[in-house]
Amino acid sequence: MSNTKKKATASHSRRDFLKAVAGTAGLAAVGLSSSIEAFAAVHEKVDAERLKLVRQLDSDPFQIRDSYKRYNSMDYAFNTVGRETQMPWFVAANRAATEHVVSGRMSLGIRAPSVGMARVYAGVGNALWAPCIFLGRTGQGTENMGAQSWSDVGTIAGLRRQARAPDITDPGPLTRYTKTVARLSGADLVGIAPFDIRWIYTHTQRNQYMPGEPELKEIRVEDAPAPHETDKALIIPADVQSVVTMVFAMNQAMLRTSPTPVAHAMAGVGYLRMAISSVAVAEFIRSQGYWAIPSTNCVGINVPIAIQAGLGEDGRHGMLVTPEFGSNIRTAKVFTNMPMLKDKPISFGLQEFCNSCAKCASSCPVQSLDFGPRKWDAVDESNNPGVYKFYHPYKKCLYFWMENGFTCGNCIAMCEGDVWVYANRARDPQWLAANRAAVDRYWNARASAFGHGLRVDPNRLWSMPLEPYGLDHNLELAKAREALKDRKRH
Ligand code: SF4
Ligand code: SF4
Repeated sequence: MSNTKKKATASHSRRDFLKAVAGTAGLAAVGLSSSIEAFAAVHEKVDAERLKLVRQLDSDPFQIRDSYKRYNSMDYAFNTVGRETQMPWFVAANRAATEHVVSGRMSLGIRAPSVGMARVYAGVGNALWAPCIFLGRTGQGTENMGAQSWSDVGTIAGLRRQARAPDITDPGPLTRYTKTVARLSGADLVGIAPFDIRWIYTHTQRNQYMPGEPELKEIRVEDAPAPHETDKALIIPADVQSVVTMVFAMNQAMLRTSPTPVAHAMAGVGYLRMAISSVAVAEFIRSQGYWAIPSTNCVGINVPIAIQAGLGEDGRHGMLVTPEFGSNIRTAKVFTNMPMLKDKPISFGLQEFCNSCAKCASSCPVQSLDFGPRKWDAVDESNNPGVYKFYHPYKKCLYFWMENGFTCGNCIAMCEGDVWVYANRARDPQWLAANRAAVDRYWNARASAFGHGLRVDPNRLWSMPLEPYGLDHNLELAKAREALKDRKRH
């Protein structure tokens, strides 16, 4: 069989497989409804259906040692690499990207059809990151900057908390309205986590990524009427109680071109959406008389917060994996004193499955990910020890990105298809517990046979069915998700 034909067959089979997983009854899209009430109701229905496919946890989803300490974000890989190389990582990456283009390559070792097309691909990556950078950057160190301002941005003056106390204080409607605003602004999943100081950075490095002495500011929780910044610290008011946590799906096909500028472009779109939704949700909250701190990657660690918000589990690659979109996602959050109904953490079998699957590790171009079991101890300072999980040396990624010219997402792109399977299996936890090892091996082999883990040729960008933002045209996954929306549990 020719390679092309083999790929087509694998893709077709995988689509059929996913249809079977999600059920064939409701492949027609729910579609946007004619009112916000209906819009909210559709999403609430999907959320309710989702909970039938996973297990909700009543206990702390983390195993943590008493010795665990909050993390100082000056040790974050982007910052340490800046000090080690005496330059911000993106300066080296930009140089490498230029060298690749003039040599007719898209990225390290990946040829483009011509120098001109190499430049076009680099331009696509650059273009889709530019709006995000314009909005005020992302990442650790950007607290209270640009779109992540801790002050009111455009709140109607008379509705600010200083001018008028909240009119609605019931957490039920406040949760509903806030989740709806998050979805209207583009979030694909929304969950509410409790505030948990364990995930808040002790300090933030204000000279983000730069060489030389880190300029640090402490992040403190203390009595204060509003979030604010002083010369020495960023203050989160002690009445903080909720974290609105959002997930943004990225186009799977584009990501599977990783590590090329086409995949890099998709990550840029993800970050842009993170910034847009976090500022939108923050402004809604402020207009109701509460304070809000929008955050893409700053303030605290996204993955455990998203786990507490019931959005997914953490995988071997250290990223969040959701039942709907796998790890082809980005996350953002908004801290607030608004009282809200908290979601519970979920399990869909990923913790166990990662023990027998290591596709992310196999797909890493620099063997950065561990094939072994979870551990307690960090491999370097870019990890925070004391949590039982998979660790990996994030600096190794960054050194690769600096050579590659563009970010890499091989590990997250190659993971996500399987999780539909976990979601389905999680419906019968007792049976699964008894048969787990054998079933995991079976699904692993089957997922590979169905084309899971195939890289996508970046030149296919021009024939992919794309929409603005590259949204949800992962075809089979999109269809499976729509099926989930209409699925009748029996
Ligand atoms: S690719 Fe496999 S091992 Fe890696 S995070 Fe996904 S499910 Fe876990
Ligand atoms: S981002 Fe790329 S380099 Fe880093 S762990 Fe994932 S696959 Fe490896």
